[in-house]
Amino acid sequence: MKKLSIVVPCYNEEETVHPFLEATQKIESLMSAELIFDYYFVNDGSKDKTLAVLREVAARFDNVHYLSFSRNFGKEAALLAGLEAADGDLVTVMDADLQDPPELLQDMYAKIKEGYDVVGTRRADRKGEPIIRSFFARTFYWLINKISSTEMVDGARDFRLMTRQVVDSILELGEVNRFSKGLFSWVGYDVAYVTYENRERVAGETSWNFWSLLRYSMDGFINFSEAPLNLSLWAGSLSFIASIIGIIIVIARKLAIGGSVSGWASTICIILFIGGLQLLALGIIGKYIAKIFLETKKRPVYIVKEKG
Ligand code: UDP
Ligand code: MG
Repeated sequence: MKKLSIVVPCYNEEETVHPFLEATQKIESLMSAELIFDYYFVNDGSKDKTLAVLREVAARFDNVHYLSFSRNFGKEAALLAGLEAADGDLVTVMDADLQDPPELLQDMYAKIKEGYDVVGTRRADRKGEPIIRSFFARTFYWLINKISSTEMVDGARDFRLMTRQVVDSILELGEVNRFSKGLFSWVGYDVAYVTYENRERVAGETSWNFWSLLRYSMDGFINFSEAPLNLSLWAGSLSFIASIIGIIIVIARKLAIGGSVSGWASTICIILFIGGLQLLALGIIGKYIAKIFLETKKRPVYIVKEKG
């Protein structure tokens, strides 16, 4: 019989682990004719009692395993650790807060049997989410799909069911800066989507705020597009051309009319403008160099303190 490994990143999820496991075990028994489940919870340096809860469920159920990090390494690191530990023929990634409904697994598995390699999920809407957050999320997806050759589906969750082959491909990508939404899409394969209504988390609270999401989306741009670099190249070229035209005009004017042009204010404005452009371009290049710097250090993406 085929084995399905469920990877669950957990950061401060002491209240949600039990409801999550109960809900998923219901689906496990419904699907037990076709699949055996096993669980890999990754405790991402939680500050609450998540680890104690995980130890307890791992002792109670044979098919529940956990890894615990030495500190908070972020959801991307937790996903990677889980995917590396999971040895199922099929692997799925789910949030601990039940925002990824386990009952979808049945539909998703049906699609795998139809021959798809990956079955992703997307939310039909963003109900229950702050309007500002929806607005920025939409803008992010619109922009990144314009400038990156890797397609990212708006509303697609990290919740996806993948065959062994797909997981192995994802694990082959050795980068340290991991932007999973992009990596999942970059590997390709035949992807089907299951759509569902947005849910709110069962308990606890989201660990993302506006700034962490903004930083996350910046990572998306830097990791999956060279467009910001092209932007500074274009801005630089345009202002160079403009300055050539300006020089020609000034010389022509001098020859035709004579006298010098007054305009201290406009000169200062131009200097500030050019200076600003240069700093902007430097900043963009700096961002990419910082990423290269991180990659060359080859630090491990996470450190496991305890396993069970
Ligand atoms: N998570 C994690 N490490 C972090 C932040 C979040 O492992 O540093 C986990 C979290 O426990 C949850 C999932 O990632 O299982 C999604 O987080 P959350 O529900 O806070 O995000 P949202 O659903 O609001 O996007
Ligand atoms: Mg959530």
